[in-house]
Amino acid sequence: MSEHANAPLASAAISSIDPALQPRLVVTDLDGSLLDHHSYDFSPAAPWLARLKQLGVPVIPVTSKTRAELIPLRETLGLTATPFIAENGAVIGLPPGWCHARLDRPGNAQDGIVIKHTGVDIGFIRARLNIWRKRLNIHFTRMGELSTQEVMELTGLDETRAKAARQREGSEPLIWRDDEAALETFRHALEGDGLELTQGGRFWHVMGRASDKGSAVEWLIKRFTSLRGSQPVSLGLGDGPNDITMLEAVNQAVVIKGCHDLQVEPHNVSLYRTQATGPAGWAEGVAHWWGRDNGRLAEVPDNKAANSVAV
Ligand SMILES: [Mg+2]
Repeated sequence: MSEHANAPLASAAISSIDPALQPRLVVTDLDGSLLDHHSYDFSPAAPWLARLKQLGVPVIPVTSKTRAELIPLRETLGLTATPFIAENGAVIGLPPGWCHARLDRPGNAQDGIVIKHTGVDIGFIRARLNIWRKRLNIHFTRMGELSTQEVMELTGLDETRAKAARQREGSEPLIWRDDEAALETFRHALEGDGLELTQGGRFWHVMGRASDKGSAVEWLIKRFTSLRGSQPVSLGLGDGPNDITMLEAVNQAVVIKGCHDLQVEPHNVSLYRTQATGPAGWAEGVAHWWGRDNGRLAEVPDNKAANSVAV
């Protein structure tokens, strides 16, 4: 994608226009962040989601889930008007309001969504995984090799969702069944194919290099900037190692306390770590950055009468 080459740097300074007038956007991981890691509940974050929607601040899911899993979820979350990033950055979905007349063909997916594939075809990834497994004599199980029942047991998803999780377009999750040294050998072998390995909450994911969450978020911020004419203040929230590139691509980052022992150490100057896990941590993180010191966002939208009296 041609826009990719000029993606804004993560450290780009927030522009000097009045902060109250500057557009904003939120990019967020789902599992263990906006959604509870076990129950997939998001109710503690719902009041902030409603407030951001009312203020016209896009909330963009950035997830390892597939497009097939995400389509019904974004309806549940009320995020059908905003883009999404699926499969850890390999798939970007743009609703009509985010499309560019010259750059995007009209969407033929559901709801006129334009789908961008940023990385490598899934058939290529699967073929290379099979070859390396044999050649290096290493042990792992690809998601495509698991039955729907096994995916259900590993993830806690119901049957419909487990089937949707197996509909991959640009990344393949796998369960690693070998030691650390073999993992490094495997990682090095994948590099030669232009592939990379990233660690999620449950699986390792293999995908095209430079099609990670951060690259996809940089691309979307650039798209937002060209459509709106000014760069947004961006807030990112995540709980896993595969969120680090996304968190480093935004101005303000939140690491949500995880239900795991994995290290999540993004190099952000503006970084907040939550006390709470999952969607409660999500709400805590948004409130930390935007709840107190920003009048426009802190005002309760349904309290207009009180506001007008104050003015
Ligand atoms: Mg997560």
